[in-house]
Amino acid sequence: MELPRFNGDDPYGWLAMAERYLDYYELPPNQWVLVASPGPALPPFDPKGFLHWQPEQILDRGMFKKKNTAVTKWLIKWVGLPTEDATWEEANDIIAHYPEFQRIGVFLQISHKPLKSRRRLAPTHHPQPSDKQTEREREREREREIAAAMEHSSNVSEEYPMKGGDGPNSYAKNSIEQKVVVDATKELLRKAIKEKLDLEPFNTFHIADLGCSVGPNTFFSVENILEAVIFEYQSRGPSSEIPEFQVFFNDHALNDFNTLFKSLPQNRNYYAVGVPGSFYGRLFPKASVNFFHSSFALHWLSRVPKDVMDKNSRAWNKGRIHYSNNQDEVFKAYQAQYAEDMECFLRARALETLHRGLIVLNLLGLPRPFVEIVGFDILGSCFLEMAGKGIITEETVDSFNIACYFVSPQELEVIVERNGCFSIERLETLPQHVLKHGAKVAASTLRAATEGLIKQHFGEEILDDLFSLYQQKVEEQISIYESKMPFVLFVVLKRKTN
Ligand code: SAH
Repeated sequence: MELPRFNGDDPYGWLAMAERYLDYYELPPNQWVLVASPGPALPPFDPKGFLHWQPEQILDRGMFKKKNTAVTKWLIKWVGLPTEDATWEEANDIIAHYPEFQRIGVFLQISHKPLKSRRRLAPTHHPQPSDKQTEREREREREREIAAAMEHSSNVSEEYPMKGGDGPNSYAKNSIEQKVVVDATKELLRKAIKEKLDLEPFNTFHIADLGCSVGPNTFFSVENILEAVIFEYQSRGPSSEIPEFQVFFNDHALNDFNTLFKSLPQNRNYYAVGVPGSFYGRLFPKASVNFFHSSFALHWLSRVPKDVMDKNSRAWNKGRIHYSNNQDEVFKAYQAQYAEDMECFLRARALETLHRGLIVLNLLGLPRPFVEIVGFDILGSCFLEMAGKGIITEETVDSFNIACYFVSPQELEVIVERNGCFSIERLETLPQHVLKHGAKVAASTLRAATEGLIKQHFGEEILDDLFSLYQQKVEEQISIYESKMPFVLFVVLKRKTN
């Protein structure tokens, strides 16, 4: 009797044949997989003969309504089964059953192959007691890591405040790119508030803008939120009471809060409060904030990943200042830091958000995680050129890294689903052109954002030359620079009730 190689067709037929074969030769279970899996296309099965479904890739994703909330579903290609047998599964279920799925990074390999049919098969993998135990242990370990990371984040998060004041190089005068994003998302924000915010008769409605910097953009964001919320209250009819509004402006303690407070709009219809501290830790009392907002801030990591700075580590980032365009150890260290930071962010917000409250985020992202970020490559080449001329040392370049990570929609989705406290109500990508403003703006925006950081590491003297060199290099390759820019993700999360 012969067992043909599994070729991806008719998995159930093949399994029936395999069972007959194994039965016939009375092979012990520990040899089943060895004997029956000569080809890589075999669907894995456990010693008891159950098909052991293993997710291989997310082919597509979508949001579906389930009992009044949005749930994310993924079209999963299973190991050893053809694409046609991919099935739509709730992201939650996949993450709960296959905690290693995120770690091995399969979600990064989104494929765009057209699918012939999308037949649904119910996964038949029944976790064994030992699976459950290790899963629980892993979960407990993860809990401990995250608790420690949150504690660490609120104590020692590195600070990268934007250039304060209102001088020519200040953030206040050089944040047009960020302003364009606030404008470009205004309509999406209004829609999210209209469709997703549960309006209750609150006495005070609390709004927090996380990573507010010095303005004026944060004031525009807050205005947009207030306008939409007030409109919704008013459209409920004359009897509905409009609450009072309290707005929390959050940023690192070293942010120039003086400039922020001095420039608060005179005719504002809210009470303003400054909240210093890292948004990767706790900032507010439990269940106290109705609406969280953050624009252009969550690409900043809590710190440069430790290994990237360690000469003895495989992730040591010698001669470069970022992971841009790499899928190596450096990239993995950045990616892991981002996942940990976002988990801290979501945990803190889950505690602080009021029942069914909303989080709206404008994030800088990339279609795939390791696409090149030309701006950082150019900045890195400027440093190396200056090191070549003896203006700075090579060692200072080796030890300098920018703590930014540009997430892909798929990665973010996995992180939010893993956290489990929020439903993803919307996840949209804005067209890239919103960020294109030419080399001069690119240089002055980057300078306002990174001047403090660079000054601290290399000294103030290099700043003017560095950024004029940067502008010149961007000008020389403006089309590639602009074609490879990050894009903006607009994300709406809603606190789940359970
Ligand atoms: N939202 C503003 C500012 C964006 S600049 C706008 O749209 O213009 C990003 C801001 O995020 C900076 O002010 C920086 O200090 C802040 N930031 C970065 N990481 C942070 C953290 N962990 N906690 C609080 N603020 C942070």
